[in-house]
Amino acid sequence: MKDSIISWSVNGGEKQKKIMDIENHKMGLKEVLSILTDKENGVIDSYDKIDAVGHRYVHGGELYRDATYVTKDDIEKLESLNHLAPLHNPHNLTGVKAILELIPNVPNVLVFDTSFHANMPEKAYMYALPYELYEKYGIRRYGFHGTSHKYVAMEAAKMLGKSLEECKIITCHMGNGTSYAAVMNGYSVDTSLGFSTMCGIPMGTRSGDFDPGIITHLLMNTDLKVEDIHKMIYKESGLKGVSGVSSDARDVEDAAAEGNKRAQLALDLIHYTAKKYIGGYMAAMNGADAIVFTAGIGENGAETREEICKDMEFLGVKIDTEKNKVRGKKAEISTPDSKVKVFVIPTNEELMIALETKEIVEKL
Ligand code: AMP
Repeated sequence: MKDSIISWSVNGGEKQKKIMDIENHKMGLKEVLSILTDKENGVIDSYDKIDAVGHRYVHGGELYRDATYVTKDDIEKLESLNHLAPLHNPHNLTGVKAILELIPNVPNVLVFDTSFHANMPEKAYMYALPYELYEKYGIRRYGFHGTSHKYVAMEAAKMLGKSLEECKIITCHMGNGTSYAAVMNGYSVDTSLGFSTMCGIPMGTRSGDFDPGIITHLLMNTDLKVEDIHKMIYKESGLKGVSGVSSDARDVEDAAAEGNKRAQLALDLIHYTAKKYIGGYMAAMNGADAIVFTAGIGENGAETREEICKDMEFLGVKIDTEKNKVRGKKAEISTPDSKVKVFVIPTNEELMIALETKEIVEKL
């Protein structure tokens, strides 16, 4: 691909960037390896120093419920999951194949976005559709952003001074993609993304929940084709579709502040839906110790956090407006008398992937 960008920083230092033509994943990863081993700026002196490669892998389906060590013998099994996430899994697999070719003696661990949700109870993951759809096509809720939910839930438990297993936490991952999770007994017991990444809370360009009857209505009564509707729900809805301004929360907030009513409506839809999910998860878990905001909007969007958390005193949630002004830093933003703590915790999926990978390769 022309003008591909590789960016990195050494030990949390200044971000560095390289723009170059990269034909494929193998060439890209070769470049990454050469940056890692660069004589002047690299962090290791040879490939031999690499103990393992941890891959972010989007969909583990029902085959992979935890982070897993894989070899080339697993490729066929992994290919069988491609249909569940056609925009992501095939590319993730290409990355694995490239690493197997470039550094064949180094173990590979896949950390799945779905695995933190893999222990959801049946009543949370099944849809009330004909049961055969689950049996034949694997139609069920899987959930995504699991690595992020797990990381921030673990950090929140530390802030609460308890083990993760003892806590009830609602984790709110709000970026271009948004998902909320109800975390109890140490794992996710429910989450707002489902079979696909289009449902739940409205996002940058994705719709979030809406009546499925609208799809059949449009197919039966307009010239729209299945592909048009897919594109509409995935790329042209959410903040972008309602506001007509942008998919970026900052632009929509600016437009709303200038009096753009549709921009305000787009934000209201997100805040209102998010509130309903928080209330729902509190009911499902019989309470919560903490609510955690993370990812681009969750970490930086003070207005979003405030709008979602206000008027929830009945549920024991009281946000402190001053403390909530924080951006991109770990902080408690609830008042001292708030029964439910509210935290901002920057996510760190890379660290989580590295930790899970380390845990697995140490046992090999
Ligand atoms: P992510 O997918 O985690 O990179 O998040 C991207 C989203 O974070 C975009 O919608 C951005 O508008 C949003 N975002 C980043 N910074 C801010 C901010 N200061 N205020 C509100 N939203 C922000």
